[in-house]
Amino acid sequence: MLDIHKIRAEFPILSQKINGKPLVYFDNGATSQKPQIVIDAISKYYTEINANIHRGVHTLSQMATDAYEVSRKKIQQHINAKHAHEVIFTSGTTHSINAVANGFTSSLKAGDEVLVSALEHHSNIVPWQMLCERTGATLKVIPMNQDGELIQSEYEKLLSTNTKIVAVNHISNALGTINPIAEMIQKAHTVGAAILIDGAQAVPHLKPDVQKLDCDFYVFSGHKICGPTGTGILYGKEAWLNKLPPYQGGGEMIATVTFEKTTYADLPHKFEAGTPNIAGGIVLGTAIDYLNNIGFENIAEYEHLLLEYATQKLLEIDGLKIFGTAKQKTSVISFNIEGIHPYDIGTIIDKKGIAVRTGHHCAQPIMDFYKIPGTIRASFAFYNTKEEIDIMVDAIQKAKAMLI
Ligand SMILES: *Cc1c(COP(=O)(O)O)cnc(C)c1O
Repeated sequence: MLDIHKIRAEFPILSQKINGKPLVYFDNGATSQKPQIVIDAISKYYTEINANIHRGVHTLSQMATDAYEVSRKKIQQHINAKHAHEVIFTSGTTHSINAVANGFTSSLKAGDEVLVSALEHHSNIVPWQMLCERTGATLKVIPMNQDGELIQSEYEKLLSTNTKIVAVNHISNALGTINPIAEMIQKAHTVGAAILIDGAQAVPHLKPDVQKLDCDFYVFSGHKICGPTGTGILYGKEAWLNKLPPYQGGGEMIATVTFEKTTYADLPHKFEAGTPNIAGGIVLGTAIDYLNNIGFENIAEYEHLLLEYATQKLLEIDGLKIFGTAKQKTSVISFNIEGIHPYDIGTIIDKKGIAVRTGHHCAQPIMDFYKIPGTIRASFAFYNTKEEIDIMVDAIQKAKAMLI
């Protein structure tokens, strides 16, 4: 099992006091905290090898380029992509999804359909709506049930030869539902549709195998896996990335430029216009190494214990209701207390140093489905503890007593 004291000591922010109380950080679904090794790697990059990549013949530029490409390879191995050039550095999940949605513009027309699910983050809804507006294609939605699971029989009914692309998350950020994506990918392929998996909320808890899954695109953000903000990955199958036009034009993504015609660079550069977040890309590799050293099986097992413990403790609070009771869930709990606005609880427990998210979690359609304005969301990481859960439950009990 995990040496939780050693792990906590590696995250300097966790020993901070917030509002005079030890920080209890349960907003991991929004962003993870960073271990010292990641913080140091950022400093080391700027101290020792900062230079622009893929351009200079000089030594420093070579060093920066090598480190960037080593990181790309690490990420390739981590997600088991067939080729390193199928791994595109982006600024995050949002950027990755927009790049793919834009790429489909010229291949869609009226009558074509794009499928998203009722469980999506706004990042995996809005770019597809914009694509449909540009092309005249129709957006369709895979519905969910009261437990927060996608209704697979409805998904099958929605799929047809009109379906051109399906976009679903691996794990819901608002409810923690783990979707059966392996089967969903297979089903999309039976009608010839492409499928993009939004893995933003999955990669902190598990190691995806994109070849085994056979997904066409898999996207995620670096900042939710102990890496820097402004980093992300777009994995795409080579054939798809070759087929899609580039998302942005600029330096570094070209082969030749004249005023008459520009030809594009090979993968991955075709999708990496301009100077990227070089330090961020390199350090994302450091973060992935850090997590692999702890081990994703250990992480999942420990987080599952936290989920079960917190679920049981929270349900002891009178009037508390959990939203998202899927059989397959990760360490995210969304809940409300009867008669109290989520924001009021969030504000009161913040005074005790407890960070939870309140609101719609960038997933308004889910809140509309349950007819609620929002929830309180506690999302746990491998560096959280049962003691912290006790502190939160106690603070919620006291807040409730004040508010009712
Ligand atoms: C966080 C998140 C996003 C958006 O990620 P950014 O890092 O803000 O681009 C998209 N989808 C899911 C499921 C998320 O959890």
